[in-house]
Amino acid sequence: MNETTTATIARLNTADETFATQLDALLDWEGVSDSAVQRRVDDILTSVKQRGDEAVIEATNRFDRMSATHIDELRLTAEQLRHAFEQLPAEQRDALASAAERIRRYHERQKPTSWQYEEPDGTVLGQQVTAIDRAGIYVPGGKAAYPSSVLMNAIPAHVAGVQEIIMVVPTPDGVLNDLVLAAAYVAGVNQVFTIGGAQAIGALAYGTESIPRVDKIVGPGNIYVATAKRAVFGQVGIDMIAGPSEIMVVSDGRTDPDWLAMDLFSQAEHDEDAQAILVSWDAEHLAEVEAAIERLLPTLERADIVRESLRRRGALIHCRDAQEAITLVNRVAPEHLELSVETPNDWLADIRHAGAIFMGRYTAEALGDYCAGPNHVLPTSGTARFSSPLGVYDFQKRSSLIHCSAQGASALGEIASVLARGESLTAHARSAEYRIRRS
Ligand code: NAD
Repeated sequence: MNETTTATIARLNTADETFATQLDALLDWEGVSDSAVQRRVDDILTSVKQRGDEAVIEATNRFDRMSATHIDELRLTAEQLRHAFEQLPAEQRDALASAAERIRRYHERQKPTSWQYEEPDGTVLGQQVTAIDRAGIYVPGGKAAYPSSVLMNAIPAHVAGVQEIIMVVPTPDGVLNDLVLAAAYVAGVNQVFTIGGAQAIGALAYGTESIPRVDKIVGPGNIYVATAKRAVFGQVGIDMIAGPSEIMVVSDGRTDPDWLAMDLFSQAEHDEDAQAILVSWDAEHLAEVEAAIERLLPTLERADIVRESLRRRGALIHCRDAQEAITLVNRVAPEHLELSVETPNDWLADIRHAGAIFMGRYTAEALGDYCAGPNHVLPTSGTARFSSPLGVYDFQKRSSLIHCSAQGASALGEIASVLARGESLTAHARSAEYRIRRS
């Protein structure tokens, strides 16, 4: 399908007459609609709903190679979290604390305000913002540990005013990650269960004898997690259905090719289905980045995953000019967009769809992953067209307020009565009419 296919990454050219088809194929992601996965997830969810703790233990033993006999063996105590934090090297403790502080500061600014105003007839109208009572946070743990995900999920919940935060994180083979536990301590998580996959989503959605039912589940995960979240939506709220991570970099040709290669790798190393795309109108520069990819890839710890990810879903795209690069960005609606250009501010007004925008050569996407401040849980697979990064607003809801004066009720009653009688809803009409002042 590619104009030029190298051993590592596809080269596409927008001038190619089949480019539109090539791009569609590149962006096609069918992962979450796999029917075998769907069946397995349905079975797990049904068993958790029917048999609670017992089913959670069984699935955890099976999929995470554990041998628990009681749910308490899959529960971490507050003491364990504190201990994990205290025994970390000072450098890691400080890094966690600094990242947490930056993330908290950023999210404090997202707090929406309740408001009220008065109509001329004396009716007061408004909106009251309240937090959800209990949030469930899914922290992935199958192939890698993500302490940063703990911070990114739990801190906005705290800032929103959530009373109780229940975290789940799988620990395959029973291996605990101290940084993840320490992050839960720093972020003020209330309870932690070492469970993952569909069984963890089911437990949070339905509740079990030991695991509290939550009001909303947030956080990224693999295909089992995403499929389960989709299935329990309605029973509980969910933040989004996360697909594999993605990065799209637009380069004006003046950024060090090694930096760009490493930025692409930084997403590709998440998993084999992650997507890394570089766009530039400078053909020579694209060739330099390609050479940097070939040279640097073997130096990575996760070289095999990166190579597979670049082979399956990566691309270097040669476009006509900056304007066409913008059109491509808005078509892809990437999770992460790096504008590796001289004056990124000039581009902003034209960028309509992107989860997070990293502006300028120095703003490596990795900085945002860990500690810059904004959330790293972002819309993937083009869903940035209609959704936003995880934020304080995801843990809150709004109630509308109406407070009628006698005069206001009378005026509104006249209107409501006409409309209700038009719908033949007599009780509605009479309820409104009782309040009409007849003087
Ligand atoms: P995970 O925690 O999402 O999944 C592990 C669980 O999957 C296991 O506990 C197990 O219960 C279940 N599972 C595995 N194989 C199964 C099978 N055959 N049948 C039934 N259940 C099975 O961890 P992961 O696998 O490492 O995936 C993490 C994902 O999260 C990656 O895709 C990564 O890119 C993504 N991620 C995204 C972000 C983000 O902000 N967007 C951050 C971190 C991670």
